[in-house]
Amino acid sequence: MTDPADRPLIERIRACRLCADRFAATHTAHEPRPVVWFRPGARLLIAGQAPGARVHASGRPFTDPSGDRLRDWLGIGEETFYDRSRVAVVPMAFCFPGYNSQGADLPPPPVCGKTWHNQVMGELGEMPLSVLVGGHALKYHLGARSPVTETVAAWRDHAPRVFALPHPSWRNTGWLRKNPWFEAELLPVLRARVKEVLNEPDRSANPD
Ligand code: SF4
Repeated sequence: MTDPADRPLIERIRACRLCADRFAATHTAHEPRPVVWFRPGARLLIAGQAPGARVHASGRPFTDPSGDRLRDWLGIGEETFYDRSRVAVVPMAFCFPGYNSQGADLPPPPVCGKTWHNQVMGELGEMPLSVLVGGHALKYHLGARSPVTETVAAWRDHAPRVFALPHPSWRNTGWLRKNPWFEAELLPVLRARVKEVLNEPDRSANPD
């Protein structure tokens, strides 16, 4: 019989049930459903937070209004976004963390990043462009300790390989109104960089 450790990484993540007890104890009492969406050779990494309830139901990342807004920010449509040979989506947790009794999203369970993240990034290799989405991803990938607005406002410190963004949730609509520089200054540069990176030759065909 094959040792489970020999199975491909994607299969092992899909089979992961490490958080079963934790999720059973949430208000939603759901089972783990890892939404795994990456393939070596991708050029654009979307480093997000965790699937929401709609993504938990669909099994595909960002199939919700946050995804529509994120695709608009990136300047790409669904066909490109869901092309795993070009775009990888690696959240801080692969499963929907559930709601608390007030109906608020629970944070991504840290065990997911600790268990899988380095292995996933090892398979993906160095990414030409990483788009970090939301406070949890900013903290993890940039070690950001300052508030999200400050980190995003300093986006030029990390561009053009890394872009720090707020979460594209409807909850941040007020934030977007208060920070017009985000749409006026950051997004045009991000869209141009996305276009440039996605038009580069296939990394898996040209590993050098
Ligand atoms: S959130 Fe991550 S660690 Fe937890 S069950 Fe899902 S895949 Fe496993």
